[in-house]
Amino acid sequence: MKRAVLSDFDGTITRRDVAEILLEEFAPREWLEIEELHRARTIGTREAMARQFALLRAREEDLLAFVDAHAEMDGTFLEFRDFCAREGILLEIVSEGLDFYLRFLLRKWGVDLPVRTNQTAFDGGRVTISYPWSDPTCNLCGTCKLLRLFQLRAQGYRIAYVGDGHSDLCPAIEADLVFAKAELADLCREEAIEFIPFERFSDVQRRLAAWQ
Ligand SMILES: [Mg+2]
Repeated sequence: MKRAVLSDFDGTITRRDVAEILLEEFAPREWLEIEELHRARTIGTREAMARQFALLRAREEDLLAFVDAHAEMDGTFLEFRDFCAREGILLEIVSEGLDFYLRFLLRKWGVDLPVRTNQTAFDGGRVTISYPWSDPTCNLCGTCKLLRLFQLRAQGYRIAYVGDGHSDLCPAIEADLVFAKAELADLCREEAIEFIPFERFSDVQRRLAAWQ
């Protein structure tokens, strides 16, 4: 059987959501009101991110210096990546975060994996976001995680999904195996989606060792 793992980045590979720590530090408090609309599912991730990051006034260098000092990886992720390579399990990142900090952190941590995420442009202290991986028929998300899941399934893969938030719900509905924590675990309970609770990638690895 061909096996693939699709993983969220913020709050899943990282201990805390990097976009959130940037907004806490560099945006006025209005970003939290937008976050409430997002959590209530009044607006999608795409609109929430665009509006929140439009509030930000900072240069890319300053944001990256902050990310460098504060973003932390799940310490068991590198071992998980090596485990997937040994087992012949395809591992890819699908993220509703922003490419500038994802690429910075992945390079810093020595992680070279396929990534789908939103694109950032910096223009005179203003941040604009574009969506190279969106689904043209749905404007809720920037990066459509479900689209990648369907592509892999069409290639004959069985797919495990690992995530922690709202933008992980669509792929969690469809995945063959779901690992969830935090908000995603709550959403799975609400929607009666079967999932395996996890805290760190070592938990995921233990379970996947028996996934044949
Ligand atoms: Mg997340």
